[in-house]
Amino acid sequence: MRAHTWERATDAASAVERVSSAPDAQFIAAGSNLVDHLKLGIARPDLLVDVSRLPLDQIDHSEAGVRIGANVRNSDLAADAGIRQGYAVLSRALLSGASGQIRNQATTAGNLLQRTRCVYFQDVTTPCNKREPGSGCSALEGYGRYNAILGASSDCVAVHPSDLAVSLAALDATVTVLGSEGEREVAFEDLHRLPGDHPERDTTLRHGDLVTGVFVPALPSGTRSTYTKVRDRASYAFALVSVAVVVRVADDGTLDDIRIAWGGASHKPWRARRAEDLLRGKEPSAENVRAALDAELAEAKTSADTAYKVPMLLRTTAMTLVQLTSPGSSPLPTSSTTSTTTSTEEASA
Ligand SMILES: Cc1cc2nc3c(=O)[nH]c(=O)nc-3n(C[C@H](O)[C@H](O)[C@H](O)COP(=O)(O)OP(=O)(O)OC[C@H]3O[C@@H](n4cnc5c(N)ncnc54)[C@H](O)[C@@H]3O)c2cc1C
Ligand code: SF4
Repeated sequence: MRAHTWERATDAASAVERVSSAPDAQFIAAGSNLVDHLKLGIARPDLLVDVSRLPLDQIDHSEAGVRIGANVRNSDLAADAGIRQGYAVLSRALLSGASGQIRNQATTAGNLLQRTRCVYFQDVTTPCNKREPGSGCSALEGYGRYNAILGASSDCVAVHPSDLAVSLAALDATVTVLGSEGEREVAFEDLHRLPGDHPERDTTLRHGDLVTGVFVPALPSGTRSTYTKVRDRASYAFALVSVAVVVRVADDGTLDDIRIAWGGASHKPWRARRAEDLLRGKEPSAENVRAALDAELAEAKTSADTAYKVPMLLRTTAMTLVQLTSPGSSPLPTSSTTSTTTSTEEASA
């Protein structure tokens, strides 16, 4: 581990000032991702600014929505009654992630800004453009089961690992960021980026930008939401694929609100806008769902290792939509070889 200075921030503005003015400085929250990278030499800051004691640990519910402080612990957020009742997709996504011990430590901002779990990114003996720009991508020819199928580039095929982020993408959240030029709101979809030829950049944040919180707009009455995660083990595993769905069915049986986000598919949470557009105003019949998901997945690029992700995403999304819109029936067979974590609750707002 490279020797570094460690400071505890006393207020958000001075934390931003300290990191902004030092090119190799970095924020640290609970450290459950960053400390591993320090030990491996992937992260080599000369200054760590500890933001975990900043008073950003509130969950504030209002008629407009919920504001979640950057330092709210994953387990506290998942257990919050207002979150469980009004934003089931968010609570379920959190509970599907990591382990109880890690969730007790992990913070909201740290979870969103954790780095990829690509095995080569963490193996410092191998080339990796995300770790060492220009060195090459070992995953292209190597072990590829976890690789992206949407939005990848020839420089990086890694997927984004956060379950929370996938649920926030489906909830049209915004992220509050304090930078050296003041505070701004970033639409959640614009926070993470596709790899292009700069995979070393996971997000659109600038050096020294401090995430201070996340705002989730209230869901209209009758909206239902849930998160389905498919993984190799029933717990303590990252997603092979995951699906966040927010949906409201009008009195005539058509979908008047439909939002779908995918995890395990891309370098960022993938908002399935094309499928949403095709489903909005229509009944969630097997034919309509199939046509919409086929259209969304038409641009998927797979290898022999990742081909399984297309039918898995299709079936998991269809199954999740059925759970939310017409419990008891299934328009498509569900995968029989995977474990899933699911739950369904209705927004009471
Ligand atoms: C064994 C294991 C299994 C896991 N499984 C899952 C899983 O299934 N699903 C899942 O989603 N996650 C999983 N995780 C990841 C875990 O959730 C993250 O490590 C954790 O959420 C990171 O939060 P942290 O507060 O510890 O962040 P840190 O490690 O402190 O920081 C992470 C990054 O965020 C930056 N950062 C932190 N706070 C701020 C801020 N306020 N503003 C700007 N930048 C900031 C840091 O500089 C760093 O780059 C797993 C982790 C482990 C170790
Ligand atoms: S997929 Fe991305 S993170 Fe993985 S080895 Fe290639 S460049 Fe590195």
